[in-house]
Amino acid sequence: MSIAATVTLDNRFARDLAEMAVPWQAEEVAEPRLLALDATLAAELGFDPDWLRGPDGVRLLVGAALPDGATPVAQAYAGHQFGGFSPRLGDGRALLLGEIGTGGQVRDLHLKGSGRTPFARGGDGLAAVGPMLREYVVSRAMHALGIPTTRALAVVATGRPVRRETLLPGAVLARVASSHLRVGSFQYANVTGDVDLLRRLADHAIARHHPTAAGADRPYLALFEAVVDAQASLVAQWMLAGFVHGVMNTDNMTISGETIDYGPCAFMDAYDPATVYSSIDHGGRYAYGNQPVVAEWNLARLAEALLPLIDGEQERAIELATDALHGFRRRYDDVWSAGMRTKLGLPAGLDDEVVAALVKDLLTLLESGRVDHTSAYRALAAAARGDAEPVHRLLPGPLAGAWTQRWLALAPDADAMDRVNPVYIPRNHLVEEALAAATDGDLAPFTRLVDVVSDPYTERPGLERYAAPAPADFGAYQTFCGT
Ligand code: AMP
Ligand code: MG
Repeated sequence: MSIAATVTLDNRFARDLAEMAVPWQAEEVAEPRLLALDATLAAELGFDPDWLRGPDGVRLLVGAALPDGATPVAQAYAGHQFGGFSPRLGDGRALLLGEIGTGGQVRDLHLKGSGRTPFARGGDGLAAVGPMLREYVVSRAMHALGIPTTRALAVVATGRPVRRETLLPGAVLARVASSHLRVGSFQYANVTGDVDLLRRLADHAIARHHPTAAGADRPYLALFEAVVDAQASLVAQWMLAGFVHGVMNTDNMTISGETIDYGPCAFMDAYDPATVYSSIDHGGRYAYGNQPVVAEWNLARLAEALLPLIDGEQERAIELATDALHGFRRRYDDVWSAGMRTKLGLPAGLDDEVVAALVKDLLTLLESGRVDHTSAYRALAAAARGDAEPVHRLLPGPLAGAWTQRWLALAPDADAMDRVNPVYIPRNHLVEEALAAATDGDLAPFTRLVDVVSDPYTERPGLERYAAPAPADFGAYQTFCGT
């Protein structure tokens, strides 16, 4: 079967926004070897998974053989990194191969680790097997948890070593996203001073992600409101799941509301708002508990970039954008509060203040006891079924006992809890174990971990070690960017 017969790669971004798209080719890969493929996603995109596994498919997955008419590009964007603005970042080691699909289901096919581009600055343009498999397994888990995310289609080993602290095997990740437009894309267009470019970018984003904004009185304000909404909902879902993104720079925040850029991210073990995993986040700017505030800060940067489109008069534009940004807190609180109610299996109709106090007291208990965030809610569900042992083990002491009685008196629904509280997440110690084995050539632990986290809510016999918190000797966990 030829490539052209299976899937077409459109180049709509490259056509609409040529100023932000540098046509470029992936670096040649001498010995590509497929390490992981999401066959379900492949089929969703219209690929025959068996064809993708074959030599021509693998060549497509590293950008070496593309359908006729494809125009791979490196995308330009700017970004605030840890608060400091860079007007020119862009895809230093990534390429947009093109868009797949039509109508409401257009998706980017994108490569990471495909070689240096004009945006590479000092970087080598490459990626190592470990971090690319890390993105694969964590984004798979996020998708299975129902959290909006870019998705990993495949990881292909290049056979070429990559120099980091040591020499590591290299890899290319093929990723699918509803787009790669970021807050930083708008910042880039804004600093060019070319309002026509900014408008074309906004129109492109509206058509692709928030089409109802096109019919609003103020379409660009409506676009901003839609992004505020999508990001508030996304970050609330991260908080409910205990996900720490780790590098919430404005170039790593999408317009679609999907999680992007799985660099130093990790799921929190013990509940603690101060949790930081990233080796470079010394000030804790992107700590677990700061994520809502940082998201709002990033959205203020998006608002600034959109001001010239929102109203001709700057004062008026600022007023409108500020009002819209206030929607963040409301939306975040709504999604988070509703999510906590479900996590605790609470019936409808309870007083908001009763629930808020109950939740606050639980989080205080979890924090002071350094309780494993993920296991806690499954243990509570067991208590709701009459088995108090797991809760006593995780949450010992009279305060916890009193809290549990207060909560049980509200008649929580244990089955409803189990539908939203995962048993299996990609726990840090398991991810590290799987990646170390894969780097040494043994893919079995990785493949098994992917299988386990792909079905996070159904407890299965034999998988106890995947549900257990990290052993005490695992120690303080650190993650790294741009590897
Ligand atoms: P990130 O921290 O992954 O969001 O990346 C920030 C910026 O650094 C982006 O412009 C990336 O394209 C670029 N970058 C990260 N790693 C590399 C690399 N190995 N080679 C070239 N550019 C890179
Ligand atoms: Mg990035």
